[in-house]
Amino acid sequence: MSGKLITDVVCPFCGALCDDIDLLIEDNKIIETRNACIVGTRKFMSYEPSHRILRPMIRNNGELKPVDMDTAVEKAAKILLNADRPLLYGWASTECEAHKVGLELAEEIGGVIDNTTTVCHGPSVLAVQSVGIPSTTLGNIYTRADLVIYWGSNPIHAHPRHMSRYSTFRRGLFRDRGAKERNVVVIDPRNTDSARTANIYIQVEPNKDYELMCAIRAILRDRGDIVPDEVAGVPKEKIIELTNLMKDSKYGIIFFGLGLTMSKGKHHNVDIAIRLTTDLNKFTKFLIMPMRGHYNVTGFGAVATWTTGYPYAIDFARGHPWYNPGETSTHELLLNEEVDAALIIAADPVANFPAQSARHLFKIPLIAIDPHPTPTTEIADVIFPPAISGIECEGTAYRMDKVPIRLRKVLEPPEGCIPDKEIIERILEKVKELK
Ligand code: SF4
Repeated sequence: MSGKLITDVVCPFCGALCDDIDLLIEDNKIIETRNACIVGTRKFMSYEPSHRILRPMIRNNGELKPVDMDTAVEKAAKILLNADRPLLYGWASTECEAHKVGLELAEEIGGVIDNTTTVCHGPSVLAVQSVGIPSTTLGNIYTRADLVIYWGSNPIHAHPRHMSRYSTFRRGLFRDRGAKERNVVVIDPRNTDSARTANIYIQVEPNKDYELMCAIRAILRDRGDIVPDEVAGVPKEKIIELTNLMKDSKYGIIFFGLGLTMSKGKHHNVDIAIRLTTDLNKFTKFLIMPMRGHYNVTGFGAVATWTTGYPYAIDFARGHPWYNPGETSTHELLLNEEVDAALIIAADPVANFPAQSARHLFKIPLIAIDPHPTPTTEIADVIFPPAISGIECEGTAYRMDKVPIRLRKVLEPPEGCIPDKEIIERILEKVKELK
């Protein structure tokens, strides 16, 4: 076997943060990945320079021209300083060390800093702030859980190794026969690939999860008499069967996804899912966990909270941190045409945001930090090419269960590509110098 085998590498793609990846490396190239799913493998192979932005660039007369790093840093600092309401958005696919400097930059320029949770699990954050969350680590799930419920999430596609590493299939100390000792339930309007692997699939009508959870809670409280014959498209007998399965389990978990957070009801869906979990603890041990998407979206929430007291959509315009999602969150700031400059890091809002809000990004000076060309870099005025976190530089990331894991550096970055943290540090220094 030629090449060097590096074991136990962390995959910097999704919130499962698998830390058992083996890479075979030769001449600063990854020639083989082992244990990673197909999505993780694609991420590891994304380092290839042929798909990369390799030089800082500035738009001049409508055309992007390569420049040196100092020129790009100065241009970016001036854009941010000249803005009345600058926005720093993205952050979910970079390391916590970059988050820390980003928060300092936001404070320095009196801007708003927000991350991609604003358009995925932001409602979960709001629900947790109002009712708390009985949760645990993924290690506890595969060690103990005998009932796993995926509600509004499709792990086979979104987190392809979640079931094999943390829930359905993995053997644990008290579940040494793995899947044979577990019931897996999928609740989803769509009969997904994940639903087809489950013991029980419950097809809930779209936007009716709240009603279904209300019915389960009523049955749990011995008020099944008020539950109609069918709720959210699910027959009453099936709801009673599910409720009994939950009550009779020894250790249950609900993993919920965007099917709850981004359907009608939003944070109310998560709120009632948490209350249902709390109710179940009168009968057995039951827990709940969001299926976080980007590999370090949880990390931004952690760093921002311990730094400012708020997890996302943080506004420094008043000279101190302030937070009011729906007003200080990115979609609304763009929709209301409030921001007059933006720095986008490790995200692609031009491709992913609704057209009504994304359109404002075309009208304002835009700085993009991204290793790859994206629709957002296409319209940027300044572009920085970073090293890829978790492949070309190390750092800290938080798994979906809030366990911090150290990302590793396995390759040297292309010349001139430096970590996100260093790019932000240089912009911050220049901002302080020009102020
Ligand atoms: S499940 Fe997620 S973290 Fe694990 S290898 Fe696949 S993409 Fe990477």
